[in-house]
Amino acid sequence: MTDKDDNKEQKHKTRMQKVKEKVDARIDAATEERGLLLVITGNGKGKSTSGFGTVARAVGHGLNAAVAQFIKGTWACGERNLLENAGVQFHVMATGFTWNTQDRSQDIAAAESVWQHCKSLLSDENIDLVLLDELTYMLSYKYLDLDEVLAAIKNRPAHQHVVVTGRGAHRALIELADTVSEVQSIKHAFDNGIKAQQGIDW
Ligand code: ATP
Ligand code: MG
Repeated sequence: MTDKDDNKEQKHKTRMQKVKEKVDARIDAATEERGLLLVITGNGKGKSTSGFGTVARAVGHGLNAAVAQFIKGTWACGERNLLENAGVQFHVMATGFTWNTQDRSQDIAAAESVWQHCKSLLSDENIDLVLLDELTYMLSYKYLDLDEVLAAIKNRPAHQHVVVTGRGAHRALIELADTVSEVQSIKHAFDNGIKAQQGIDW
């Protein structure tokens, strides 16, 4: 090793030591433990896959998870095939896209029916994680009552985690959340005429 290499090694070590001190201080400061509300929003691809990834992560640790899917569900998603076998209960609205159904009162009834299941999940001490996939649209279309949804999430068991996905998350939901990520679209295959691909898009 030359003197120059030696100097680089030393500089790296000093820099990493400083980073370690900062990270350790932040780890020491984070002492609270409780159920979190995560919101994954934005126009880019990756919101539902992130939600399902979190469900898989939790189930892998032996936690009890449940999934409610709003809007979609006429195409069975791959995650359902896998996770139902692992004991995850699914409640699916299964009406298809709003621009296909074009039937507001039927959509509202379907949303309400899934929401009844959500309310019981959100008051069930035995459920550790609830994924509310595409819930944001139910609030922006006013299919579900905002205050009722917020209250059910707020009053859930203290240890229970909730993940909400969908574009255009309501400000009140973002305020209530502990962790919010916005997925930004840089590009999407669909814009170049590529069909939705099984295993990637559903
Ligand atoms: P995914 O389920 O793949 O994580 P998502 O939940 O972020 O996607 P949604 O708005 O729920 O996105 O849309 C679901 C479908 O639309 C998926 O098939 C996804 O690939 C596609 N999609 C997501 N983002 C875009 C985009 N920016 N342009 C076109 N199609 C998109
Ligand atoms: Mg989605």
